[in-house]
Amino acid sequence: MTQMDKKNLQQRIGILGAGQLALMLAQASAALDLEVVCAGQPGDCAAQAAEVRSVDLDDAEAVAAFAQEMDLVTVESENIHADVLQGLNLYPNAGAIGIAQERLLEKRFFRECGIATAPFAAVDSLDDLQQGIKEIGLPAILKTRRLGYDGKGQVRLQESEDAASAWALVGEVPCILEGVVGFDAEVSLIAARGRSGEIVFYPLVENHHREGILRVSIAPFLHEGLQRKAERHMTVLLERLNYIGVLAIEFFVTDGCLLANEMAPRVHNSGHWTIEGSATSQFENHLLAISGRELGRTESRPTVMLNCIGSMPPEAETSVFPCLFRHDYGKEARPGRKVGHLTFAAAEQAAIMEWKQRLQAR
Ligand code: AMP
Repeated sequence: MTQMDKKNLQQRIGILGAGQLALMLAQASAALDLEVVCAGQPGDCAAQAAEVRSVDLDDAEAVAAFAQEMDLVTVESENIHADVLQGLNLYPNAGAIGIAQERLLEKRFFRECGIATAPFAAVDSLDDLQQGIKEIGLPAILKTRRLGYDGKGQVRLQESEDAASAWALVGEVPCILEGVVGFDAEVSLIAARGRSGEIVFYPLVENHHREGILRVSIAPFLHEGLQRKAERHMTVLLERLNYIGVLAIEFFVTDGCLLANEMAPRVHNSGHWTIEGSATSQFENHLLAISGRELGRTESRPTVMLNCIGSMPPEAETSVFPCLFRHDYGKEARPGRKVGHLTFAAAEQAAIMEWKQRLQAR
């Protein structure tokens, strides 16, 4: 078979978006004999590993034309307008993405599925906000329902006098008010569901955020009871949504209970460690799931991942450690921007804690 014949037989997967998640999906696709093409803008970082076509992701016709040339499409972000996603051969489905991109729908859906959350109230006006403060109490967080990521679109309220300024700060758009959870830890569960309904889970991961941005993930978060509980919650969500692909759920751990904060209908930053830490990475399992193949095993080693925010550390600083994996997304340095990550996987959990400290001390 010639290279050309082989290429013609390969499934062609279109990714809506061409950032670092698309880049790592494209990198994973090579070993799976799949072709990945991204819809983004020239200069997006996925271009290092895949063809990137210039497509305006707000333009439904342009996205439909791109999808026509693919066997199927997937997303690297939930923040694509629901109208644009209609009618595409899309995995995961548009219904699941629609819920995950709107905080109020998402929180209500968690509750419908029997999953506890922080107390919340819908806010569409300053009156609603004042009423919500009475119901929920303070401190609380006002979050825009849409387009929030890395702590953007969020304002903390300490006093009821903060209401008017908080409402102005979020731009008077539909919001959700949430009670502040005094959590013991933040964890996430990542799972993949295949077309046959088969589900694989990764171990729970402990996540550390600063200024709303994920800084460090440590796998595994060892707690048998919570692992089982999180897997049960995940199974309900995946099955109710008829979900295919990778789904991530972020939880607060408080008094031995799990409160769901949000879900991401895509590969997730707290799963980047699986590239080196698991038998099959989240990127491979997402591609296997959406292309209708059998899922890969998720046995894992203790692993720590550190996000590089703003800029990459100098090569000289990291190259002295042969066991430290460096992922540079090739993005321009900019304050607050995720430009890469470092991963260290070990045989022992103790080594992970030592590395967590070393990496955080940078
Ligand atoms: P989010 O965009 O909802 O993931 O929020 C970003 C980060 O803000 C979370 O990972 C938490 O560290 C913090 N946070 C968000 N919501 C709450 C809450 N209800 N209580 C306490 N911390 C929160």
